[in-house]
Amino acid sequence: MRVDYHMHLEMGSLSLDYLERFCQQAQRAGLDEIGISEHGHNFRQYRKIMEHLWTGEGTYPKIVSWLKKGFSLDLDVYVDLIQEGKQRGWPLKLGLEMDYIPGKEAEIAALIDAYPWDYVLGSVHFLGKWAFDVSPEVGWPDKDVNSAYHAYFTAMLEAVSSGLFDSITHPDLIKIFGHRPRIPLEPYYEAMAEALAQSDTCVEINAAGLRKPVGIIYPEPEFLAKCQQAGVPITLACDAHYPEDVGKGLDEAIELARSAGYTEVAIFTGRQRTLQPLG
Ligand SMILES: [Zn+2]
Ligand SMILES: [Zn+2]
Repeated sequence: MRVDYHMHLEMGSLSLDYLERFCQQAQRAGLDEIGISEHGHNFRQYRKIMEHLWTGEGTYPKIVSWLKKGFSLDLDVYVDLIQEGKQRGWPLKLGLEMDYIPGKEAEIAALIDAYPWDYVLGSVHFLGKWAFDVSPEVGWPDKDVNSAYHAYFTAMLEAVSSGLFDSITHPDLIKIFGHRPRIPLEPYYEAMAEALAQSDTCVEINAAGLRKPVGIIYPEPEFLAKCQQAGVPITLACDAHYPEDVGKGLDEAIELARSAGYTEVAIFTGRQRTLQPLG
């Protein structure tokens, strides 16, 4: 089965016309099913989970101004839109990409419980108040790369162990701008694989890395191999922010999965997982 479970409507609008363009591209790309996974920070209901990130000490002006443009959409409108697309027979799944914010587990769980998601992706874009994927000019020049990697994988382990999510997205996003640590990463990969297996969470193969400065898929092949050995299922993602990017890099993602030993991909309905042959 050919699926892409990670894409965003945020550059367009919450309208059937715009949603249909993603479905049309999915058809052109030979996909059987797509999942829409808008960012939590676009919705007013998510504001209370993240608003402490732009106040007080240690904020970054560029991140603050970007965050302040968020939280404008309504989750009910988004959920209704995807449901309407489904009713039209479009091969859609209702998802959400939620930032894991330490200490906000109860609020995140409440939002998850309030809607009929097919699946929920968990992600880490923030280390404290630093959104490390905004720009290599923001935060990175002052950081020790080894410490940034350590903080990232520490947060990711917490996100996975929370058990809140169905799949953990772009699982080594910290490499986005090509910063590479001098410390060995194998212990982190092993710990992640173990935590994913224990919490019954999938790992996402995300092709967006091909379009970023790092130029390769998330995660690294060695990381994925550990997940495969631990019996962690995969979800597949191209992380399109525009309709034309739906399915882009999917063949490379599938090839990476196969080379790690995977033969199946996870799909979801109402947060129930089934495994399908890798398409
Ligand atoms: Zn993301
Ligand atoms: Zn995304």
